[in-house]
Amino acid sequence: MFVHTGFIPNVANNGGVVFALTNRYDGYSQPPYDSLNLAFHTGDESAVVERNIACMLEAFRTLDPRCANAQNLAYMTQIHSTHCALLGENLCGGYAGQNPNLINVGEADALLLTHTHAPSMVLVADCNPILFFDRAHNVAALIHAGRAGVFGRICSLTLARMQKHCGTHASDVYAFIGAGIRKCCYEVGDEVCKKLEPKERERHIELRAGRYFLDLESLLRAEFENLGIGEWEFLPKCSCCEREFFSYRRDGVTGRFALVAMLVD
Ligand SMILES: [Zn+2]
Repeated sequence: MFVHTGFIPNVANNGGVVFALTNRYDGYSQPPYDSLNLAFHTGDESAVVERNIACMLEAFRTLDPRCANAQNLAYMTQIHSTHCALLGENLCGGYAGQNPNLINVGEADALLLTHTHAPSMVLVADCNPILFFDRAHNVAALIHAGRAGVFGRICSLTLARMQKHCGTHASDVYAFIGAGIRKCCYEVGDEVCKKLEPKERERHIELRAGRYFLDLESLLRAEFENLGIGEWEFLPKCSCCEREFFSYRRDGVTGRFALVAMLVD
């Protein structure tokens, strides 16, 4: 179910963020979505996805006594954009109007969380699932950062939205980056390499036996350094190498795993 869980307290020590990264085990979906597929758009049966999400939330509620009331899970319709939505605005209601416990916030690839006890998730299968937590203001963001998002600087744009809306300072931000495809597996073509500046290419593209491998982790590390993010932690796992994760690059038609987060007080 969960491959990693954590709690980061805020500076006042009267709250913080609880988060958990899922793997592909302990769900009900059939191949090729076996078994804990948490995304509706993959082609999996919606009723089974709802059952998987309910199971995952049940497990999430047991992580911390302050999570016991976690319900009404919010998620985005992710489109590889750099749009950051605010949870609470433009709510589209439950999934297809059927499940009142699920909130689709519409098309976005980052979601700003400002209310406690409102769990949210970002879905991935090779893209980087990222949590930003502002320890001074007890607000957070969930980010879907694949190649398009990283190249489009979605983390910088999300931080800017946090700064504008909540007064966030980068130095107060803790970032957690879950499993994603790493440079061991992420072969790219010439056309992708050309999108980077020559200096960036040298630093973030590895040449192995005449093939190019993109290092999204080092691109993100450089961006975090540049932004002055206070502290960050990468889960040292490649979604494409490790079979406990869904991987779009490895499997094509497959499920999605999730980084789930909830502010608590
Ligand atoms: Zn790998």
